[in-house]
Amino acid sequence: MAKMTVDHSRCKGCGLCVDVCPKKIIVILKDVRTAKGYNPAECSDQSKCIGCGFCFEMCPDCAIRVEK
Ligand code: SF4
Ligand code: SF4
Repeated sequence: MAKMTVDHSRCKGCGLCVDVCPKKIIVILKDVRTAKGYNPAECSDQSKCIGCGFCFEMCPDCAIRVEK
């Protein structure tokens, strides 16, 4: 089963991964703030992740890890 995780210490909350995900399961956590002051991204439903890696490729800050 595929799994996508976000390293919040690297995420800047730009939302590029949210837009690129074909399953629309990535969300920006509005009520969470990272140490650098950003709202981080997170996978809202791991069971729907197909492991395509689009989010990983899109992230400019190398914050995303995708496991198959
Ligand atoms: S693309 Fe990367 S930096 Fe931007 S919101 Fe997604 S995980 Fe965070
Ligand atoms: S690997 Fe694909 S399906 Fe899974 S969260 Fe990233 S873009 Fe979405």
